[in-house]
Amino acid sequence: MSVEQRKIRLIMELRQAGVVDLRVLEAIERVPRERFVPGSFQDQAYINRALPIGHGQTISQPLVVAEMTQALKIGERMKVLEIGTGSGYQAAVLARLCRRVYTIERYRPLHLEAMTRFNELRLHNITARVGDGTKGWPEQAPFDRILITAVAAAEIPEQMISQLTVGGMIVLPFRDEERGERIVRVVRVDAEDYDVEELNPVKFVPLVAGALPDDIAHALRRR
Ligand code: SAH
Repeated sequence: MSVEQRKIRLIMELRQAGVVDLRVLEAIERVPRERFVPGSFQDQAYINRALPIGHGQTISQPLVVAEMTQALKIGERMKVLEIGTGSGYQAAVLARLCRRVYTIERYRPLHLEAMTRFNELRLHNITARVGDGTKGWPEQAPFDRILITAVAAAEIPEQMISQLTVGGMIVLPFRDEERGERIVRVVRVDAEDYDVEELNPVKFVPLVAGALPDDIAHALRRR
């Protein structure tokens, strides 16, 4: 089966699973996922599965990327913040849908690899940095949308809500002791109020506070 055929099969699978937003499906179709997965997993790039990207992290499952992106209801002129750059794949999908993407990753090696991919694919509307995403990106706030791609503790990140425009949304994986992980959407209704809606149950990699020092990151990379 050719890459094109595998890609079409994946898109059909996403549609069947309930991803109906055509802009989202088109963005997924246009971003070459094979460029974001390690060489040894090339043949699995268009299978609906999370894959290892090194440093104990994973590139999210295509269905999770599709559902979270759809839940964000992104407009062309929006400024979007992503927490957890990882391979850079989700950021690349977002970049096709909005004006500018800001993305934060705590592991420097992953950040650097993602930057290389953004340059090679000429994704010039992505600004990436290393840091602790739990603090958001105050210097660039406010954002129209915030997407958290690593699992957060069982609380709504208040610091991030303050970095949203009024009417803005955060989509995040949320851990509920009884019911496991699910996608949650927080909508900032006005200066003081926000609404929380629950979407689908899914599986994520943990969100860890604090950026990793360079020397530890380097040691991990060499293991
Ligand atoms: N969006 C990625 C997949 C994310 S996996 C992709 O498309 O490939 C989650 C990522 O969040 C991991 O790379 C992990 O290192 C990162 N992460 C975890 N805690 C973080 C934090 N506090 N700040 C920034 N990044 C964090």
